[in-house]
Amino acid sequence: MANIIKTLKGTKDILPQDVNMWQFVEENAKKIFTQYGFKEIRTPIIETTELFSRGVGDTTDIVNKEMYTFEKSDRSITLRPENTAGVVRSYIENGMSRLPAPVKLWYKGPMFRYERPQAGRQRQFNQIGVEMFGIKQPTADAEVILMAVNFLKSLGLNDLDVEINSLGCPKCRAEFKEKLKSVIKPYLNDLCEDCQNRFDKNPLRLLDCKVEDCQKIYSLPEIQEIIHSDFLCEECSSHYTELKLYLDRMGVRYKENKLLVRGLDYYTRTVFEIKSNNLGSQNAVCGGGRYDGLVSQLGGEETPAIGFAMGMERLISLIPANEQPKLDGYIVSNFPTDAFILAEELRSYGLNIEFDLTNKKFTKQLEKASKCAKYAIILGEDEILKHQVSIKNLETGNQITVNRENCKENLYL
Ligand code: ATP
Ligand code: MG
Repeated sequence: MANIIKTLKGTKDILPQDVNMWQFVEENAKKIFTQYGFKEIRTPIIETTELFSRGVGDTTDIVNKEMYTFEKSDRSITLRPENTAGVVRSYIENGMSRLPAPVKLWYKGPMFRYERPQAGRQRQFNQIGVEMFGIKQPTADAEVILMAVNFLKSLGLNDLDVEINSLGCPKCRAEFKEKLKSVIKPYLNDLCEDCQNRFDKNPLRLLDCKVEDCQKIYSLPEIQEIIHSDFLCEECSSHYTELKLYLDRMGVRYKENKLLVRGLDYYTRTVFEIKSNNLGSQNAVCGGGRYDGLVSQLGGEETPAIGFAMGMERLISLIPANEQPKLDGYIVSNFPTDAFILAEELRSYGLNIEFDLTNKKFTKQLEKASKCAKYAIILGEDEILKHQVSIKNLETGNQITVNRENCKENLYL
């Protein structure tokens, strides 16, 4: 096996034995999001690089370090690292602001980030996400968070932690940033290189640095005091209070986390994450927040908006593996033409049916049936002469013989 070609580092095949789990997650997403009035949108995987530098932000890791970018006919093109920017572009480009608000959209699909591959971190990974446009009230924030929780519950994931925070608006945040910078400044030389770079460009991001020495500095009392100070202006503060009241009323359990700042530049007011204790250090399954400035930043009209994205690989790793789905029936017969005709007939009724394409020995076919199907449908010489079939329930071992036209009624458990 010299010279075989392998997947690129950080990418994975989703194999047939795992696909039913992906379909389970996708079907639940469609069902739950539809209940809340969201419609699916599919945007291209490639976009102009400018969309992400303007839409995700020049100071983020995503834009600075993680994008797959290439030139084609003098244009700079990027494989999408996330899908909020693409959905916002589409919202503007297709005049969706003329639709009655809210415009509720959801998506699923692959994203690409050039990161160091490790458990829970790939270079091509999949996200499921939603975006809601046009509502500034905190009911929208509460509905989106509640929907995320209900979607996770539909997958059997009940014990995840919801964390929320408010980053305020550009106005009140600006003051907070200045205060934060002034208390951190004396320690600037002791911070890691990333934090030193972020200090001027995006000081809020300092708080979610993973480097231990930096975290030690940020836990100093004078810095903690600023972090925990109440910097929100009146409007931001009442928005946040109302959100919490709605979540309480809807029975969503959450923790407030002042250190939750999220990696992206565009968030305003509400940010949230949903985390699992069972995922090690890559423990976030869902990240989201309000981004009231993004639509106008990308050239559209001022439009409030909120959304979230979930990492599908991380979600799936939390769901206990279920059994492989079985065929409804496997036809056991040494008369291939009759088997073929019967298979087609039963498929036309919507049943999942296979028969042996190679006409192996009867006993071999029976063995195969017991592995992959709920019923063995036996078409021996006797059955064919009498225009009958024998149906063996492979779970109970019971076998009955019925007229051929009654076959389909006997294949439902
Ligand atoms: P992290 O802190 O784990 O890098 P992030 O803030 O970069 O996350 P977001 O941009 O908010 O992540 O993306 C939303 C979700 O997508 C994450 O919560 C995570 O579940 C998933 N995700 C992000 N990057 C990757 C990746 N490289 N591989 C697999 N899943 C990912
Ligand atoms: Mg990341």
